[in-house]
Amino acid sequence: MRRRQVIQTVATSLVGPVAGRRALAASAAPVLVIGAGMAGLIAARRLHDAGVAVTVLEARERIGGRIHTSRLWPDLTVDLGASWIHGTQSNPLTALAAEVGARLVTTDYDSFASFDARLGRLPTGRGSEYLAMQQRVREAIRAGYRAPREQGLAASVRRRIGSGALSGAERRLLNHFLVSLADDEYAGDSAELSSWYWDSADSYPGLDAVLPEGYDALVHHLAQGLDIRLGQVVTQIRHDRNGVQVDTLSGRFNGSRVLVTLPLGVLQAGSVRFSPALPAAKREAIARLGMDSGVLSKVVLRFPQVFWDDVDWLEHVAPAARQGQFHQWLNLARVSGGTPALLGFLGGRYACEAEAGWRDDEIVADAMAALRAMYGAAVPEPTAWQIPRWSRDPFARGAYSFNRLGATPAMRDALAAPVQGRLFFAGEATHRKHFATVHGACLSGWTAAEALLQG
Ligand SMILES: Cc1cc2nc3c(=O)[nH]c(=O)nc-3n(C[C@H](O)[C@H](O)[C@H](O)COP(=O)(O)OP(=O)(O)OC[C@H]3O[C@@H](n4cnc5c(N)ncnc54)[C@H](O)[C@@H]3O)c2cc1C
Repeated sequence: MRRRQVIQTVATSLVGPVAGRRALAASAAPVLVIGAGMAGLIAARRLHDAGVAVTVLEARERIGGRIHTSRLWPDLTVDLGASWIHGTQSNPLTALAAEVGARLVTTDYDSFASFDARLGRLPTGRGSEYLAMQQRVREAIRAGYRAPREQGLAASVRRRIGSGALSGAERRLLNHFLVSLADDEYAGDSAELSSWYWDSADSYPGLDAVLPEGYDALVHHLAQGLDIRLGQVVTQIRHDRNGVQVDTLSGRFNGSRVLVTLPLGVLQAGSVRFSPALPAAKREAIARLGMDSGVLSKVVLRFPQVFWDDVDWLEHVAPAARQGQFHQWLNLARVSGGTPALLGFLGGRYACEAEAGWRDDEIVADAMAALRAMYGAAVPEPTAWQIPRWSRDPFARGAYSFNRLGATPAMRDALAAPVQGRLFFAGEATHRKHFATVHGACLSGWTAAEALLQG
C-alpha cells in the first residue's frame, strides 16, 4: 500500500494520475528491463504495479547504478555517485524522498570561501575581480548562445573575453568559472561542450539538497518486491515480431518487450549488440552526444579535525596549467553533523586524466597540494579516502551525458524513440530537458513505462 502511495505521488508530480492496466498485462512473457538504476527501477515499479510481469536485468551486484551510497565508514555515509536532488520544489524526487522518510539537508552555493593557488584567500564581495570575471564569463556564454557559428564552449568564451590580454590571476579565474559553471555541471570538458546547447537543460526551483543517510534509500524503496536479477551482464538484445531475446554472460531471457536504460557511455562503447542494428538516427545520437569522453570526478577525504572554513563550499582557483584540479570542495562536516570530511571535485580533461592514469595515492597527493595551497603547509594528512572512477567503470563509462559540439537536443528524442513497438529506451541521456540528473532518469523511466502500457 505504501509503495502504491509512492507511485501515486511520483506519478502525480510527473504526468498526472496513474492510468489503469492495459493490454500489455495480458501478455505472459515478461517485459525485460535492462539496468536497475533510477530509470529502470521507476519503470519496473510502474509496470509491476499495473499488473505487468517484469524482470530487471542488472550487470552489477547492487542496484542503483549511478546512485551509489557507500557505507564503508560506519560513522559517515557517502554518496559516490549522485548526491543532490537538484531544485527541491516540484521535483518528483522530493515527493519520493518524503514518502520514503529520507532526511534532506540543503546546501547553498552562496555559502563559500574562495582561494587562489598563488594569491591565497580571495575577496569575493562587490567590486571584486572575482565577481567581475564571473560576470564576464556569464555574458560571454550568453553571447555564444546567440552566435551564428557553433563552437566549443571554452573557445567561444575565451575569444569573446579576449583571454590573451588577461593577467595571470584573471586567466586563472576565467578557467575556474569555465570548470565550475560548465565542466562540473555537465561532466564534459568545456572545450568539447557545444556553445549553443551545453546548458539546454531545464531546472526545478528551490535549493539543492543532499540525503545524509544515503541517496540509495530512494532506489531500495522502489525495488521492493520486484524481480531483479543481479550480476546479469547483457551482451546482446535481439527482437522480432514474436518478442525479444536478451543474452547475458550467464544465460538467455525471453520477453515480450525490452526497456533499455543502459547509460549512454555503455551504448557508445558498443558492449551491447543490437539485432537488428539500431536505426540510423539513434546510432547518430549515440555517436554525437557526449559521455564517454568526459567525467565529473569525486574524492572523499577524512581528516583528524576540521581545519577549513565553516561554509558549504570551498573553491580552489587552480594554476592555469592545472585547470580542473580540485577546484570545488563540499564541506561534509556541515551536511553530516560534524564529521571532519571533505568531498573534492575534479573537472574536465584533468578529471579524465586522473581517473585514467593516476593511482589513488597520486590523486590524494594532488588533492592535498590543492588544500595546502588554500590552507597552508600545516594541513594534516587525511586519515582515509574513497575514490570512485566513473569513467573507468564498464557499466557507466562516464558520469552523465552532455551536449557535445555537433550534437543537438533533438538527438535525445531520437535516443528515446521506441523501435518497432518492441524496444523501448529510458535513462537520463534520453531526457531532452532534464538529462544528466536523477530526476531526468526518473521522468524518462516513467514516460517509457507509460508508453509500454499503452501497447
Ligand atoms: C559522480 C556523479 C555525480 C552525480 N551527481 C548528481 C547529483 O548530485 N544529482 C543528480 O540529479 N544527478 C547526479 N548524477 C547523475 C545521476 O547519477 C544519473 O543521471 C542517474 O543516476 C542516471 O540514472 P539512470 O537510470 O539513467 O542510469 P544508471 O543509474 O547508470 O543505471 C543504468 C544501469 O544499467 C546497468 N548496466 C550497465 N551496463 C549493463 C549491461 N551490459 N548489462 C546490464 N546492466 C547494465 C548499470 O549497472 C546501471 O545500474 C551524478 C552522477 C555521477 C556519476
